[in-house]
Amino acid sequence: MVIAVLAVQGAFIEHETMLNKIGVECFEIRKKTDLERSFDGLILPGGESTVQGKLLKELDLFNPLKRKIEQGLPVLGTCAGLILLAKQLSNDEHSYFGTLPVIVKRNAYGRQLGSFCVEAQMKEIGTIPMNFIRAPYIERVDSGVEVLAKVNQNIVAVQWKNQIGISFHPEVTNCTKVHEYFCELIYKIKGKR
Ligand code: GLN
Repeated sequence: MVIAVLAVQGAFIEHETMLNKIGVECFEIRKKTDLERSFDGLILPGGESTVQGKLLKELDLFNPLKRKIEQGLPVLGTCAGLILLAKQLSNDEHSYFGTLPVIVKRNAYGRQLGSFCVEAQMKEIGTIPMNFIRAPYIERVDSGVEVLAKVNQNIVAVQWKNQIGISFHPEVTNCTKVHEYFCELIYKIKGKR
């Protein structure tokens, strides 16, 4: 199994470290020719969604990646990555890939004091540390979207078909469970193809 990590901006190295820890091969997507390599899953890291969205378009990566996600490529979007996947943002007129049928609020905990860490339950996975860094949360989900985790009544992790969207940063902890869960999803989807 090979996982591609979008590496135009943000916390991509931390995801690569997690994948190395669990023995999964990965490579970085920085430019269009990187898409010529074959891969089984994609990680969209945290960072600044506006910058990532702009770079994706400038580098000609936006449409090919959107098509791959629409065609069923397993994708894990964390924080800004969740924002890129969401079909709509409640406090921003932009949307990016729009492939995940949820409404997301950017900087939902405030810009300055919006960073905190909790331990909470994630469905299918158990209790894990959740690091929130100027994080969004999910305000609404369409029917069929599975809610995987809530913190203080707010939805912070969802899954819909091939897409997992998470408000927090699983890659800045010692816990590899979210990455392992994503790999299981990839195996499940690969098996069906
Ligand atoms: N606040 C950032 C945004 O709106 C997301 C923060 C993060 O990815 N840690 O894009």
